[in-house]
Amino acid sequence: MNIGFIGLGHMGLPMAGRLAASGAPLTVWNRTAGKAAPLVAAGATLAESPAGLAAACDVVITMLADAAAVRSVLAGDGGVLAACRDGAVVMDMSTIGPRAARDLAAEAARHGSSFLDVPVSGSTALAATGTLTALAGGSPGAFERVRPVLAELSQRQLYLGPSGSGAAMKLAVNIIIAATNQSVAEALALAEESGIDRARAYETLTASAVASPFISYKREAFLHPGEGPVSFTTALMKKDLELAMEVAGQVPLPVTAAARDFLGTACEAGLADADFASVIQVLRPAPEGQPSQ
Ligand code: NAP
Repeated sequence: MNIGFIGLGHMGLPMAGRLAASGAPLTVWNRTAGKAAPLVAAGATLAESPAGLAAACDVVITMLADAAAVRSVLAGDGGVLAACRDGAVVMDMSTIGPRAARDLAAEAARHGSSFLDVPVSGSTALAATGTLTALAGGSPGAFERVRPVLAELSQRQLYLGPSGSGAAMKLAVNIIIAATNQSVAEALALAEESGIDRARAYETLTASAVASPFISYKREAFLHPGEGPVSFTTALMKKDLELAMEVAGQVPLPVTAAARDFLGTACEAGLADADFASVIQVLRPAPEGQPSQ
């Protein structure tokens, strides 16, 4: 099975790296072509365009910033869907929301291919070890066909229902992640204000009833904001909460709305491209002349 992978950002690069390491025939494309260099060194082929990639592949994966980016690569005359092989499966693993996923599934059907929405839960560290959780929506048959590919990328592959179901469930997961992120930042600020060292406070959280995988793997991001690698940007998490509010419609999501607004404040403070744990810098900026702790 020839696999195509489009989008080599924080998540896409390690995910495509897993596929390259598995020995599967892999073709890649990224808007900024230079990011593909490590994959080409590992044996992947660099396509000249998304359509060129689609013509060579049975399964095409996209891992792009948002719905606009996914549409720009998949839809329209020069897009992947128009160029796909008959019977190909296109799976978008970005977080784009259910409406965009359903639109793309309808366009794929017009071109004789299948579209699955398969966003993932887990961040860059889990992408590198192939231990993400994949949340799938779309045709069950297409899901079964790509399951061996998903198994290289994820430790669990959960089928949620028709097109848009994976995308909707991903937003449901992420509103909890965002609320947890905000709560951890506030808890650390409260502890520090009470004279407790931030590292000691964090250690206490990881040993408390609220301990979770998220709290464990965000340790460095909260203890040394702005210093380590970015896993997931403030701007992308804000995008997810905006999608969640749109999907919820008339259902009030007051905690999600507050978290979204605070992420907006962080973006305005220049932290849009920083890791989203950087909301703590807005709550508790480093004293003048000192690096953030
Ligand atoms: P990222 O590092 O910002 O990478 C975004 C990718 O999209 C890059 O390859 C970028 O290309 C490409 N891109 C952006 N706009 C484009 C456009 N108009 N046309 C073509 N390509 C475009 O994002 P990420 O953190 O990998 O996240 C990717 C997706 O996964 C997002 O939907 C995010 O919400 C979701 N997600 C992220 C995480 C995480 O922890 N990071 C976890 C789960 C899900 P360039 O390289 O040229 O900029």
